Amino acid sequence: MSAADWSAIRADFPILGRTVHDKPLVYLDSANTAQKPQAVIDAVDDFYRNHNANVSRAVHQLGSEATEAYEGARRAIARFVNVHPNDLVLTSGTTQAINLVAYSFALPRLQPGDVILATRMEHHANLVPWQLVAERCGATVVPVEITPDGEIDLPALKAQLAGPVKILALTHVSNVLGTVNPVAEICALARKAGIATVVDGSQAVPHMPVDIPSLGCDFYAFTGHKICGPTGTGALWARREHLQAMPPFFGGGEMIREVRFDKTTFNDPPHKFEAGTPNIAGFVGLGAAVEYLSAIGMAHIAEREQTLLAYATERLRAVDGLRIIGQARHKAAVISFLIEGAHGHDLATLLDLEGVAVRSGHHCAHPLMQFYGVPATCRASFAFYNTEAEVDALIAAIAKVRRMLG
Ligand code: PLP
Repeated sequence: MSAADWSAIRADFPILGRTVHDKPLVYLDSANTAQKPQAVIDAVDDFYRNHNANVSRAVHQLGSEATEAYEGARRAIARFVNVHPNDLVLTSGTTQAINLVAYSFALPRLQPGDVILATRMEHHANLVPWQLVAERCGATVVPVEITPDGEIDLPALKAQLAGPVKILALTHVSNVLGTVNPVAEICALARKAGIATVVDGSQAVPHMPVDIPSLGCDFYAFTGHKICGPTGTGALWARREHLQAMPPFFGGGEMIREVRFDKTTFNDPPHKFEAGTPNIAGFVGLGAAVEYLSAIGMAHIAEREQTLLAYATERLRAVDGLRIIGQARHKAAVISFLIEGAHGHDLATLLDLEGVAVRSGHHCAHPLMQFYGVPATCRASFAFYNTEAEVDALIAAIAKVRRMLG
């Protein structure tokens, strides 16, 4: 795609035209949450203006329009990752999706002495739920270690798979390092060893085409707000046999077939796992978001972001005293860095005064910070709507902040 096309695409995002502290906004925090194009804002607005009603309950016209909009969004989201809509549970995000797997799939199966493996680069969302269920059933959570470059230590992992392991929790892409893990290869090894794989796709789906069936995992979770959809949306894909066997996690309306005091029967998946009124307008927005991304093409997005990543990496590497954390061979457009003599929070606060939004902190990945021996990093994360000029603005702002910090 030409530069003109990308600049037209950028113009789809109204917020990117605003200023912050009288400076043009340079938004480099898309790994935290992505900005929303007009098409998503319009879809949510149209839903509330013209179609708002609850789903699956009312026979009136608005009720069927809302149900169709919600189920249509499920079909669009399923198409986006190439799965069947009936195998896609709509959740409030990755966090809820992984908790559902932990409590509904894993807890009833785990025995004292069982091992749950989780990589050292997991977001707390794919670690803490495992610790919670392990505590209840006497299992242990053991880290899969990484190399200093920020890649999974594959030989070590292979050896670990020979142990009493029941679950392997691994992220597709690290939210801190940008590392793209060889998920298909790892899931094949785990499958051979009879280990269920729970893949956190939160940082993969925004950056590349994701074809879930080709990964060979058991579960794949992702979150809607990182792919230009509204907050409070996400999804869990699971193998059909798991969804059929798993008991519901939440009980309530929508998820039942018949309720009696002596015995309640449940709806079929995925509705069995969707108790209560969902974030209907949010999913309508997410449906619009994945259609918007698909119209651009995830392969084009991946290519554009790789160009930005290469440019930003080269420019950041040239900054004196700046250290990039994580140098994996295969990376998405996420760069964590430290600057000698500057605390991450001070740096991010001062960059904000220049209009540059980056995230500083532990990025919900304490064990990874412990590995690198740092309390926090600064993270610049890029999306297809960013520009080379914004990378230049980041570099100029860093230079100015360093002068200020002496
Ligand atoms: N996993 C990863 C890798 C993430 O980056 C995030 C969000 O930052 C999450 C999980 C949690 O997503 P959510 O808060 O939308 O549930």
